[in-house]
Amino acid sequence: MVTIIGGGIAGTLLAGALAREQRAVTVYESQPTVGAGHFLALDDRAHAALTRLGVGIDRLHKASHRLTELRAADRTGVIRGDARTERRLYLRADLMRALTEFATDTTADIRFGTPVTELNSTEGTLFSGANPVPADDVIIAADGIDSLARRTLEPDRNAEYSGQIIIYGITTRPIQPNTDPSVLHFHRQFDDDGRPVSTFGHFWNDQISVWFTRLTRGPLALQDIGSQPLDGWTEPILAGATAIPELVETMLAATDTVHVSNARTVPLADARPPQTPVILCGDADHAITPAAGVGARDAIEDVAALAEAIISGSSPAAAMTERRRQILDERAKVAQMFRSAT
Ligand SMILES: Cc1cc2nc3c(=O)[nH]c(=O)nc-3n(C[C@H](O)[C@H](O)[C@H](O)COP(=O)(O)OP(=O)(O)OC[C@H]3O[C@@H](n4cnc5c(N)ncnc54)[C@H](O)[C@@H]3O)c2cc1C
Repeated sequence: MVTIIGGGIAGTLLAGALAREQRAVTVYESQPTVGAGHFLALDDRAHAALTRLGVGIDRLHKASHRLTELRAADRTGVIRGDARTERRLYLRADLMRALTEFATDTTADIRFGTPVTELNSTEGTLFSGANPVPADDVIIAADGIDSLARRTLEPDRNAEYSGQIIIYGITTRPIQPNTDPSVLHFHRQFDDDGRPVSTFGHFWNDQISVWFTRLTRGPLALQDIGSQPLDGWTEPILAGATAIPELVETMLAATDTVHVSNARTVPLADARPPQTPVILCGDADHAITPAAGVGARDAIEDVAALAEAIISGSSPAAAMTERRRQILDERAKVAQMFRSAT
């Protein structure tokens, strides 16, 4: 029997994957419904893990849009991403709907609107307000970047601001600008000293058009993040994309609300080794700035490793120890590539 805290990408997927293999699973999710907000790109590794866990490729394709290329432009020219990597773009709401349908097709018990508010990691007991929450031998904490479980187990391992705020917009009707469709376009802007100050990204096809911007600046206060009207953000967004004003104005003119967040990373290098009964998973354990574009993929690969361990009767703590090693290795390689390229 497995208890999961958090019914986001990792928690919902793990619940469905375990229940398909006749494991009893209960998920406690604080929100009343599946989350919405931004959009995200998943690569072929994420899709390989999703399908291995039993999520049908048709279900995933129905919920997403083909993404043929990542293409970055700045004053030095155009850089094209590796076209061999197959990616798809999802509105978060559509991905969550697909994963929730996958999980609710099984016997997984998902309790929406039930925040876990207290956790005793030694005894493995949970509370939602004054009510004790029945918990099992294994508790997987997939409760996201501000994880209550991580705060309880490792009070000093806090999410750190990565130096940029991120604004995501989904247009109210599909816009077809004068750029190639099905490509995730990035336009980068630098200051006089060559430091990156902003990135504007967009994607469109005949069904949707979406955009984001990353602005280098201090973090926003808690009350200024989340879903809000676009109005107050028009000026800084345009100032951060002076090379492509028409494109940006067209996108903004068709957008009502935006999703605003601080880009943050949870440091992993000195984390306490995973140990039962409570195992951290996904963003709760190792969130990375959205600029890296791999947080959801990492969370999905955690789920694959944990599901395999739990189903085969091996140690979920050992599985997460190995996942952390892989993630740290990959991040070191990316940092090395970035250093060599600059
Ligand atoms: C703007 C933005 C863009 C991104 N773009 C990409 C991208 O292109 N590609 C990519 O791979 N990744 C991307 N990511 C990262 C990706 O969204 C995360 O890595 C992923 O959502 C992590 O999944 P998770 O299940 O660990 O956490 P989440 O999906 O955040 O789920 C955590 C869940 O736990 C619930 N919860 C929290 N506390 C409690 C509690 N106490 N009790 C019960 N429930 C609780 C929350 O309500 C939530 O539903 C992006 C992130 C952002 C913010």
